[in-house]
Amino acid sequence: MNDIQKEFLEIVSEVRAHLEYQRALGVKSIEEPPLDVQKPIVQPAALSLSKEKTVAALAASPVVKETAKTVEAGRPATLESIREEIGDCTRCKLHKGRNSIVYGEGDPKATIIFVGEGPGFEEDQQGRPFVGAAGQLLTDIIEKGMKIKRADVYICNIVKCRPPNNRNPEPDEVEACIGFVKKQIAAIRPKVIVTLGNVPTQNLLGTKQGITRLRGSWQEYEGIPVMPTFHPSYLLRSPGEKGKVWEDVKLVMKKLGMPVPEKK
Ligand code: SF4
Repeated sequence: MNDIQKEFLEIVSEVRAHLEYQRALGVKSIEEPPLDVQKPIVQPAALSLSKEKTVAALAASPVVKETAKTVEAGRPATLESIREEIGDCTRCKLHKGRNSIVYGEGDPKATIIFVGEGPGFEEDQQGRPFVGAAGQLLTDIIEKGMKIKRADVYICNIVKCRPPNNRNPEPDEVEACIGFVKKQIAAIRPKVIVTLGNVPTQNLLGTKQGITRLRGSWQEYEGIPVMPTFHPSYLLRSPGEKGKVWEDVKLVMKKLGMPVPEKK
């Protein structure tokens, strides 16, 4: 049973308790239901039905249907429904050169989301984020450094299709795609977001400040703490900067109450 179904049954249960209370008071039917619905919420006969039949009667009620719709409308989309919404996307010019849409992967209930800028060659080939050399480095940071499994975090990018020659995504491409990562974050509701490099940091935080200035300092996105740090591909070019990323990762671990080894 999913959350919506559980919540629906809770509503049904509350309505039923209310009806039973009314019946105990001698009320035989409800003539004036709310929400401008002309029929009674439940026909009087339903008051003496079995639980299953009462639930079915309530499920057919326009009032309860309306309530269920309202509950669902206020809920963030699921990772599956966001992927369906993306579909075979042609919303920006990056679709022309892609081999696959790299949506993201990991635990749908992850406490940490790593957000990169966009897929590279290997990612485009495999349809998975961070699987090339930079991806291996990110995996090492997660598994050897943080001592958690890569599958226990969530990893995705600001744009889902590979920019040509691994260039940075352009503003119109980010604008077309960033809504999806925002929905992914809303669906997962992590405790911490780690942004990797300038593109995700500047676009999620809405700042023009560079990663060199922002890394290592807590920021915030929609009430969620954000730790900006260098992109692993930058570390491949500048291995001397790995220590700074480790310092940033240790701040994340401390924030989440994870044991922090003294040395990587
Ligand atoms: S990058 Fe995003 S918006 Fe552009 S085509 Fe791919 S999925 Fe669509």
